[in-house]
Amino acid sequence: MLLLKSIPKVDKFIQNKAFNKMSVKLITKIAKQFIEKLRVDILENKVTSIDEEKLIKNVLTQYNTITTPSLQKVINATGVIVHTNLGRSLISPTSFDKVKNIVTSYNNLEYDLEKGKRGERYSHISKVICELIGCEDVLIVNNNASAVFLVLNTFAKNKEAVVSRGELVEIGGSFRVPDVMASSGAILKEIGTTNKTHLKDYKNACNENTALLMKVHKSNYSIEGFTSEVSHEDIVKAAKENDVIDYYDMGSGHMIDLPYNLNQHEPSVLDIMKCDPSLISFSGDKLLGSIQAGIIIGKKKYIDELKKNQLLRMLRVDKITLAILEDTVTSLLLGNNEDIPTLKMLFTPLVDLKQRAKTLQNSIKDICQSEILETSTVIGGGTTPNKKIPTIALSIKFTNCKANTIEKLFRKHNIIGRIENDKFILDFRSIQECELSLLEKTIIKIIND
Ligand SMILES: *Cc1c(COP(=O)(O)O)cnc(C)c1O
Repeated sequence: MLLLKSIPKVDKFIQNKAFNKMSVKLITKIAKQFIEKLRVDILENKVTSIDEEKLIKNVLTQYNTITTPSLQKVINATGVIVHTNLGRSLISPTSFDKVKNIVTSYNNLEYDLEKGKRGERYSHISKVICELIGCEDVLIVNNNASAVFLVLNTFAKNKEAVVSRGELVEIGGSFRVPDVMASSGAILKEIGTTNKTHLKDYKNACNENTALLMKVHKSNYSIEGFTSEVSHEDIVKAAKENDVIDYYDMGSGHMIDLPYNLNQHEPSVLDIMKCDPSLISFSGDKLLGSIQAGIIIGKKKYIDELKKNQLLRMLRVDKITLAILEDTVTSLLLGNNEDIPTLKMLFTPLVDLKQRAKTLQNSIKDICQSEILETSTVIGGGTTPNKKIPTIALSIKFTNCKANTIEKLFRKHNIIGRIENDKFILDFRSIQECELSLLEKTIIKIIND
């Protein structure tokens, strides 16, 4: 077949100047695949001529698809501060800079500098966390899901863990409390009903096979109406009386007084500690505002038990996590909350948000219509479910464009906004101050394209 003979040879084909700046290794690999496919297509009579330009274009497209990073920066204009789909809490750029020097060199991760011998990975963080929270000890694992799993597996394997039916939650990413319990080996002992659980339900559930009384934060819903739930404080007391462990999965733990009276719905870890609990766990990257981690705090004797569980080896965290978390907690201890992006966003006064909205509105006023809106948003990440905080947004209008068309256009440029009352809006609560000029440039680009 004549056509087969004119198939380009890989070695020669990759010399084409279109591939000048590319990695020879990867271009060769992709070119081989395309040329092989061409050969097969010719043999099967699917192709009757060879278009070398098209071949080059296909190879280049494939090369670019593979080498463009899939994980990319986006501007979060949804207003949701702790947005799990968009990476949850932002890591503070100053933390990141400090940590860079530690993690790109050797360090004392598991080395005791004083004694000159093996040290403990978890010792670095415990000093500052215990000082901040006033707990006896702490253990850091991969995330809060791991924390729940480790606690249940350590203390409640083949034993009963008592949980209210009103708290058997499912949160995003298929974390279902009953399923996590089952895979940890704990036996779920459900008590109460969906809307009401009483202290006597906890007490009545205790028997010789009970390991712990567990409370789970209702992260993404609230039950209203004819309801009652038992306070964490009473659960701690009941656990003590029955000589079992109390464990509270707080979901999003925070260490501050939240604005807009939100502490009333979402007490801080410091508040929760007042009743002298056995164990508590929460996420590192929800309202704490740090890196992905699960933080388990409580009595030393229980933390020691957790450290002995082989599972910890599978759930252990890297030096990057420990270094960043230590820096965040130090900021909290020093009262430098403005160094933590999540808290900074939460506390930005409305007047500042409005000023930013006005500046942006002004700079795009000649090219598109926009309107400043006083509205509200949620914190996200399973914190303060159903509670809203005030915010400022800019609605963007393009002539003859529906809101969802504009939303798609912005999304193509990695700006994620939201649609509210049929308007596409950019919510300033979650837009970083340092992103404003990029936002402006991108809007101009979207309109000019
Ligand atoms: C978010 C959440 C978890 C899971 O935490 P991750 O850090 O995402 O693993 C577990 N329990 C509750 C109640 C939560 O809100």
